[in-house]
Amino acid sequence: MRPFAGQRIAVVGLGKAGLPAARRLAEWGAEVTCWDDREAARAEAAAAGLRVADPAAGFAFDALLLSPGIPHGLPAPHPAAAAARAAGAPILSDVEFLHRAVRAAGSRARFAGVTGTNGKSTTTALLGHLLASAGIACAVGGNLGPPALGMPLLGDDGVYVLEMSSYTLERIESVRFHCAAMLNLSPDHLDRHGDMAGYRAAKARIFARQQAGDLAVLGQEDEWTRSLAGEVAGRVLPLGPGGVWWEGRLLRDAEGVLADLSRCPTLPGAHNAQNAAAAAAMAMFLGVPREAIAPGLAAYPGLPHRQEIVGRIGGVTFVNDSKATNADSAARALASYPRVVWIAGGMGKEGGIAPLAPWFPRIAEAFLIGRDAPAFAATLAAHGVPHALCGTLEQAVPRAAEAARRGAADVVLLSPAAASWDQFTGFDQRGDRFRALVAALEGGG
Ligand code: ADP
Repeated sequence: MRPFAGQRIAVVGLGKAGLPAARRLAEWGAEVTCWDDREAARAEAAAAGLRVADPAAGFAFDALLLSPGIPHGLPAPHPAAAAARAAGAPILSDVEFLHRAVRAAGSRARFAGVTGTNGKSTTTALLGHLLASAGIACAVGGNLGPPALGMPLLGDDGVYVLEMSSYTLERIESVRFHCAAMLNLSPDHLDRHGDMAGYRAAKARIFARQQAGDLAVLGQEDEWTRSLAGEVAGRVLPLGPGGVWWEGRLLRDAEGVLADLSRCPTLPGAHNAQNAAAAAAMAMFLGVPREAIAPGLAAYPGLPHRQEIVGRIGGVTFVNDSKATNADSAARALASYPRVVWIAGGMGKEGGIAPLAPWFPRIAEAFLIGRDAPAFAATLAAHGVPHALCGTLEQAVPRAAEAARRGAADVVLLSPAAASWDQFTGFDQRGDRFRALVAALEGGG
């Protein structure tokens, strides 16, 4: 298996996906040159026996595999991307190389892609779970990991289930998604895409190579997504009447009730009904029997950091929703519980928490952390929501637990509505810290 023999590929950005990608491409015959602006990452690549050199210094490669986090256009192109552009070389993602390798191996494995502003990881993991439960060979990953080039090569019956970010979608050329879903679209990553039209265009690429007979699943909650119906070649399946939709907790399609989501403890809230609808529609298209959907959804184990129950102390449930890095996703979590003690804050997005005002009546008390705690506090004060500035999660968790113990609410919800970079290496570290602090409370520590 040497699909890339003789190809000179520059791999720039040696993070969680970049380093395994470089190794895999080298195994598959490519002449790989690696680069990362961080010295430590370069040293790691060199230690792994990979060639390290700056491709921006004279670009002589057939393609550039650029980490999704590194821009090739807005706000400013990375020097390696600028050099690739100037040399007329394509800038690609690991998914493009995976697809090329699978086809070069002669496999007809199908590709399923999931995108949208929110719900991608949940829908991807859920679809993988439904396929695996039905005995369909699949590999699940992409954005949520494992990275595309860490996945096995599947045979003709296999299905790749890939979470696709807008950044990755911009860098695919040949990938045809036999079924693809766009869940929703709301302002995000506009620094990279310029405006909503640019962001939508990047996301819409998930449907670009679909053919008649492929499935295009479309959320119905915003016009950006709904209006794609007129632009796709595949069969449109709306996440609404006529496709798969939900009424209260009942998931339905044209044939009747598909599943009762009140029996699915890891899928709370209307947003998860949308994720379940998308996953169910795609799973049935890919061959999962209709009657396997309900038991499959009920047995879904859930993902960490997405409304994950990390503890119950007395009558109080502690929910880790650290993945809610914007107001939109925090709104989903707040909407899932009648009354909460809320822990929020970090690096807020444009507009802060003002869009959450409809859910403020559900907040008994808020405990705020991180850089934008003062701004969040000002918004809460303007709406008369009781709150306290805590600085850190270490301060906030015991105080929130105490408020709940006093009877303020029976849920303590960490759903920060903010990025974590000011205090943590990422949302996962923030969620892990929350879990540990809750465990310490449980232990009486
Ligand atoms: P993504 O991978 O797109 O970031 P996740 O599945 O990791 O999405 O969910 C992240 C957060 O987004 C969740 O904690 C929840 O608050 C919110 N969310 C999940 N699904 C949806 C949805 N379908 N619509 C809106 N918000 C959602």
